[in-house]
Amino acid sequence: MPRALVVPRNGGSDVLEVRSVPEPVAGDGDGEVLVDVAAVGVNFIDVYQRQGVYPVPTPFVLCSEGAGTVVGTGERVAWPQTRGSATSRMAVPADQLVPVPGEVDLETAAAAMLQGMTAHYLVNSTYAVQPGDLCLVHAAAGGVGQLLVQMIKAKGGVVVATAGSPEKLAKATALGADHAVDYTRTDGPEELAAAVKEAVGGQGLHVAYDGVGRATFDASLASLRPRGTLVLFGGASGQVPPFDIQRLNAGGSLFLTRPSLGHYLLTREELLWRGESVLGAIADGTLRIEIGGRWPLDEAAAAYDALEGRATTGKLLLLP
Ligand code: NDP
Repeated sequence: MPRALVVPRNGGSDVLEVRSVPEPVAGDGDGEVLVDVAAVGVNFIDVYQRQGVYPVPTPFVLCSEGAGTVVGTGERVAWPQTRGSATSRMAVPADQLVPVPGEVDLETAAAAMLQGMTAHYLVNSTYAVQPGDLCLVHAAAGGVGQLLVQMIKAKGGVVVATAGSPEKLAKATALGADHAVDYTRTDGPEELAAAVKEAVGGQGLHVAYDGVGRATFDASLASLRPRGTLVLFGGASGQVPPFDIQRLNAGGSLFLTRPSLGHYLLTREELLWRGESVLGAIADGTLRIEIGGRWPLDEAAAAYDALEGRATTGKLLLLP
């Protein structure tokens, strides 16, 4: 029987259990295929779902991202958002799969799906970065952060990266970030915003990509130029509390958006465009993926503790 990582009830990483689950069956007529799962991506959305911040009826099998081979055909595939991915064999709707090119191994493909397509929609579709744009990227050594830095640089943007240690800032700089600010060494949002703007000669920035949320939101807003855009795409430090819309006016007719990957993968064409762009860039060497750790299913709690405890860089994988 396959084994799976189960959330039996909402809570901390201590609730996680590995259980034997029934052999999956591909549903008749609804286009599902059976996949042997080679690697599973660890993401913050798993944390929100485990905690109950994003409600999912319990018990459920955790994780939504992975890569593997189709049973019977051996086709190599990856997927960004199919609930129940932390298992050794699963049924996946065929229209949620992206083909993996021969140059990309399955661990890297699993690592690239959710965070890669997220960085892709953020820089191409939510705010389309133009050459010369000044762009703030928080948590720039993290999974999404490392990919944002590289994709913005590839478009000719200027990156001000923030992170929580000199080692993490060095990673962002090695990936091309033009300026680096340790946001654990600034005192309050005004000081952080001043440090960000000072890095680019005292100007406000065109766009702030903020997946840290509560701890950085005010500084992100204060870092922008008139008509700048704040893209709040997550809350690694906690969710942003209710907000007075007049602050967008006071800040200079600012734009604020709170996007989600699912809304940028509305059609099969959009999924393939983003997925093939990301995997293609990895295949031709223009996009680098750091796999920051691999854990067996039985040690998944340690992976989540590391992610939630700011102890990681790059992408974390579970190996079923
Ligand atoms: P990361 O690898 O970036 O890990 C989170 C990082 O956030 C940490 O390493 C840490 O970096 C920073 N951080 C700052 N404060 C805290 C805190 N209090 N607790 C934990 N971390 C903190 O994770 P991901 O790349 O997986 O995700 C980044 C963000 O992107 C998350 O908010 C996630 O929800 C969001 N996301 C949103 C998507 C969307 O479509 N909207 C899709 C995918 C991800 P440091 O130590 O340098 O501060």
